[in-house]
Amino acid sequence: MLVVGGGIAGCVAALAMHQRGIGVRIVEIRSPWTGAGHGITVQGNALHALRTVGVLDRVLARAVPFDTLRMRHVDGTLLEELVTPRTGGPDLPATVGALRSDLQAALSDAVREKDIPVTLGTGVTALDQRPGGVEVTLGTGERGRFALVVGADGIRSTIRRSIGIDIEPKPTGMGIWRVVAERPAEMDCAELYFGGPRYKAGYCPISEDRCYAYLLDVPLDSSMIGERPAGALLRERSAGYGGLWGRIREELRDDTLVDYRWIESVVLNEPWYRDRVLLIGDAAHACPPTIAQGAAMSAEDGIVLAELLAAAPSIDDALAAFMARRLDRVRMVLDNSLLLAEWEIRPDAQGADSARLMAQTMDALCAPA
Ligand SMILES: Cc1cc2nc3c(=O)[nH]c(=O)nc-3n(C[C@H](O)[C@H](O)[C@H](O)COP(=O)(O)OP(=O)(O)OC[C@H]3O[C@@H](n4cnc5c(N)ncnc54)[C@H](O)[C@@H]3O)c2cc1C
Repeated sequence: MLVVGGGIAGCVAALAMHQRGIGVRIVEIRSPWTGAGHGITVQGNALHALRTVGVLDRVLARAVPFDTLRMRHVDGTLLEELVTPRTGGPDLPATVGALRSDLQAALSDAVREKDIPVTLGTGVTALDQRPGGVEVTLGTGERGRFALVVGADGIRSTIRRSIGIDIEPKPTGMGIWRVVAERPAEMDCAELYFGGPRYKAGYCPISEDRCYAYLLDVPLDSSMIGERPAGALLRERSAGYGGLWGRIREELRDDTLVDYRWIESVVLNEPWYRDRVLLIGDAAHACPPTIAQGAAMSAEDGIVLAELLAAAPSIDDALAAFMARRLDRVRMVLDNSLLLAEWEIRPDAQGADSARLMAQTMDALCAPA
């Protein structure tokens, strides 16, 4: 099998296939193979998938677990405290906050330790579907034949395009500022701030002394996209937020590295595969991070795929079974994440109740993938 993309979806899929004795190789366009430096909240069902492929301990060693989500008013006043359901089972935290680079390192290290072949710094330039397999040409010119190609190459997937699915990521009408900042000592879980000058602000702890803070804003000009020393600008955009967010803002230096990007989604209203090429992770379903389930859905894809490849009588049967098993669960997360994004933009929309929808979604996700 060939997995294109060595992010969360690709690494978990490759590790899970290797675990079941399925030969697999990864092609990853980045070199060196590192994750971006900002934070991520990883939910219990993602942790469950990471445990299945044996990387949970190294993730937990560099992450902060918590079971609570607090909703606050812009001035810091507490609105509601939710006990987050443990979607990965009672023996796993509901959520952990982590550095993305630590999560990626845990996955890449595990792939290397298992001696799964990885080719860095290149992608796929041609895919030719043949009976029972795919002829693949890599950017290096190397050619090979694979029984299945798994496109795990993210929201702007080139594999998606190469199998004729011409969908582009769709803007949700929001942009997000992200920063890794000093963790105020009182911060003990994820918190969200509503009713302020921007759509939403939030943070979670990611280590003893660092936290990951973000601000959901209007979509600004595309020239703003990327990571740069923009602490002064984030201070300006986040003015008006109190509580611990206010404290984080005060600590931002002019040259603090800040990432800004639009929030986009990918929703496929068709199967995620053509013959022997399958899309998983954000390549097949990218949701706004309003429930922070992107990593979990991507990791679950990898686990379920490997399980079905090992159990089904043929690859074609495995692919059909994969879609049947993944579609409703992923669609529920996508639809609810998009609805939450809409409610963040229009909080006075009829029926808008973010806390209820989040809780309902997490409750539903307690069922195994
Ligand atoms: C602003 C923001 C905040 C988010 N916050 C959270 C959060 O807190 N919690 C959460 O669970 N999810 C979050 N998500 C979603 C989460 O990041 C994604 O769902 C997840 O990273 C998807 O994993 P993936 O492996 O499918 O894709 P990616 O992480 O995008 O990995 C794709 C991999 O493929 C490689 N690649 C790309 N093109 C090629 C190519 N042509 N050839 C070979 N390799 C290629 C890339 O280099 C990368 O390594 C957030 C998303 C955004 C945009």
